[in-house]
Amino acid sequence: MPMKHQNLPYADWSWPEFRAAASAFVSAQISRGPDVAELECKLGELLNDGRVFAVNSGRTALQLGLEGLMKLCPQKDEVIIPEFVCPAVVGVVKALGLRPVPVEVGSDLNLRTDAVIESISPRTLVIVVVHMYGCPADIEKLENVARAKGVFLADDAAQVVGESVNGRNLGTFGDFGVLSFAQSKCVVAGESGSGGALICRNGELLAVVEDRMALLLPAEGRAVAFLAFVWNYLLASYTARVSYYWRRVIRLFFAASDRCIGLRTISNLDAKVAICQLVSLPRRREKRIQTLGKYARELLCAGDLFKMPQYAPNRYLARFMVAIPLGIDPEECRVLLRRKSIQTRLGYPTYSKGGCSGGYAEQLGRRLIELPVYSNIADRDVVEVCGALRKAVCASKRQATIRRDFIE
Ligand SMILES: *Cc1c(COP(=O)(O)O)cnc(C)c1O
Repeated sequence: MPMKHQNLPYADWSWPEFRAAASAFVSAQISRGPDVAELECKLGELLNDGRVFAVNSGRTALQLGLEGLMKLCPQKDEVIIPEFVCPAVVGVVKALGLRPVPVEVGSDLNLRTDAVIESISPRTLVIVVVHMYGCPADIEKLENVARAKGVFLADDAAQVVGESVNGRNLGTFGDFGVLSFAQSKCVVAGESGSGGALICRNGELLAVVEDRMALLLPAEGRAVAFLAFVWNYLLASYTARVSYYWRRVIRLFFAASDRCIGLRTISNLDAKVAICQLVSLPRRREKRIQTLGKYARELLCAGDLFKMPQYAPNRYLARFMVAIPLGIDPEECRVLLRRKSIQTRLGYPTYSKGGCSGGYAEQLGRRLIELPVYSNIADRDVVEVCGALRKAVCASKRQATIRRDFIE
């Protein structure tokens, strides 16, 4: 029997997304159109707090927010970030000439409040709180800390949309929030550059951001970027069979489109797709929570071989990360899983001051493997993935022992 491909989903689209995109093409409303305002309105209703600006990426939202804060407080230049974070965040902070101050994360891979308090200095401009892989950080406490210490707080909810803590939506804490609609997030309009949102709650910041937003142009080249995303990501299992050279040619042609991202507002085409994703989000969320529960039951059968640092019953996670046992090479496991047609990904690299923090980011972060959770994954697929993972870990363990014996 041929093995079924267990791929990580880059986007969970169905007909409405394709239909919406087709209608943008037919009506020639790719760059500009009425759906941008519609998306801002829908997000505003969903989040129920702050003023929403739809932009072309999470990075654009973060940059506009940080730039605004720099205007309000030009003498401060330190930005507290989790040491375990998406590299895009570090990139934006550095690009603005600000100094990233990496702070320890806890066993859930999110910022530790006590470590944040210790790291606040007279030069701290803002604390950037990230809900890693969708797992909510201790944002209420961190908001109180920021207020008490007189520093700003950014709520980077790029990886989650529509999750809440005590009735308040992630992305609506602190002075501004960030959402992203790039691939592998929970609302996906395309590859990075396809969309994001800035949620502004601080009144002084709002005035600065409004002025800046008025100068931004809509994203361009999105028709080609959309087709490239469908071809390269969504149809990957088919297009990968097309000749290697043909793919090279196509990629060359498409690559030109995603090079120039820059600060832009979202395109009408991407806004249309994002709106469809917001509509299907509650259904996709339910399914995902069920699948995560199934994974947890399967993995717990393996005793304490695997750790699920972010799992909790009924918690939505945008990406499901499992920590494999200490001493096992994650890359080796991934190769063994790939042979079983199971696609995986590693966690983010740790960003720390000296390169070795010794904390959870080092201990857990380097052992993380992301497992496939797609919308029509069946219970037996989950069982199969978990079985293959157990076997891969056992095989790697044996090989590690053999290598050690050999060296000794
Ligand atoms: C993905 C991501 C971003 C950047 O979003 P883009 O739309 O890719 O620019 C920012 N912060 C976090 C935490 C992210 O995961």
